[in-house]
Amino acid sequence: MNPCKALLPAVVAALLVPATSLAAPPAQAATPLTTGSVRLDIASGRVEGDVCVSNLPDASKGSFVLNAGLNVARVTDGDGKPVGFDGWYDPGVDGEARIYTLAEPAATLCVQYVGAFPVYARHDAPTDFKGLMAFNGDSARFTEQSAWLPQAFDSKTRVRSSESRYDLQVHCGGCRFLYLNGSPAIEGAQGRFRSDNPRPVLLFGGSGPITCTAQVTILNETLPTAKVDALSSTVQKIADVHSRYIGVPLADRPTFLRMVTLNQIERDREGSEWGFATWPTIAMSGSIGNVADSLLAGGEKAERRVQYIAHEMGHYYFGTLNRPQGPYFWVLLESSAEFLSIKALREISGDAAADRYIARLQSAIDKTDKPLPAFDAIDDNSDLGELYRYGYGPLLLLSLEKQVGEAKMQAFMRELLAAPSPKNWAELQGIAMKTGIDAKAWEHWRASCVAGGRQRCQ
Ligand SMILES: [Zn+2]
Repeated sequence: MNPCKALLPAVVAALLVPATSLAAPPAQAATPLTTGSVRLDIASGRVEGDVCVSNLPDASKGSFVLNAGLNVARVTDGDGKPVGFDGWYDPGVDGEARIYTLAEPAATLCVQYVGAFPVYARHDAPTDFKGLMAFNGDSARFTEQSAWLPQAFDSKTRVRSSESRYDLQVHCGGCRFLYLNGSPAIEGAQGRFRSDNPRPVLLFGGSGPITCTAQVTILNETLPTAKVDALSSTVQKIADVHSRYIGVPLADRPTFLRMVTLNQIERDREGSEWGFATWPTIAMSGSIGNVADSLLAGGEKAERRVQYIAHEMGHYYFGTLNRPQGPYFWVLLESSAEFLSIKALREISGDAAADRYIARLQSAIDKTDKPLPAFDAIDDNSDLGELYRYGYGPLLLLSLEKQVGEAKMQAFMRELLAAPSPKNWAELQGIAMKTGIDAKAWEHWRASCVAGGRQRCQ
């Protein structure tokens, strides 16, 4: 029995929000499709893959990466013909992965591989991080960063194709449940997972509990009903606000994943926590119950969690339906999600909460003495650090809203979602003009808030 059905069938979801011109996701560049099967075993740490990747980006048809702990048995094209490759000796390395170079570019790449990893059943590993293929004795955690599946690799830009559509069969010895990012979790030790949306492919298999409501999936931890309800109702509220604002139903629901890290003993001793979000997965080393506790406590504790969850849920739009590229990548991905989270915070927790949050962002900008790249002069070389992505970018969007009004700003955000990523300022302005923002207002915003990388509008 599968307790975690696909949560919002498209037909039902469509009824929740008025139809708009945005029903179809925006046009996207070719996205890889990963198919095949992977076997793993929780007790032994062994992993075996027989996986093909097709629809590769042109620039990435000549190489691929795979976790350094995995051994390539053979590489073939889509028809089973062997493909020669380099990487046996003196291989190139990209972080936690080895780089393999094909003798000739292949449109479809099939890789058979096998490897085994240390099992830290006592949680006493020297380290843990997102790039490890992590076996902790009762679970396996392979994130997209760990390259547990072959990923096409552009050797010029050194960029991995870490997001993929997939159709994968997974067998996991010792697992009670299996979860692949972007698909409903299943109870059982094997299953077939499919996603037509490109996703960062994260696998988690474990022997712990699993809870599914219409709004949330909670993996590897049992929570009392009151806490599950607190999470569910917050997620529901955020989904409603986002769906209404963007005019496209938020079809994903978050999966909260409790991790017991490989070095959990040390973390517990230090009282340190670690987490990451790979939409729709929100993973944390501490208890998911802490999130629910904060929501139930109310006040600023709750506000922070609401804003955080709303930010992550914003990545359904900016990151999943629209996958940003180019010089505005970080702003389109993170500042947009942040802007949406502030909208949700205002509706759910009130004006005071939203204003407090905005004031915090502004004060972080006021404090920096690092010059901010001017938003109207950004190119591929611009260094948009965390402060820019999560602080300055959202403040710029808010100042634009002040200039043009809420209705036009909403139209602008919807158009940003529907349009291919702007490649320069003129294209960004084109998107604004298309949504009825007047050229004078745009120019006034540029001159008073944007030009020269101002820290505040003048
Ligand atoms: Zn984010």
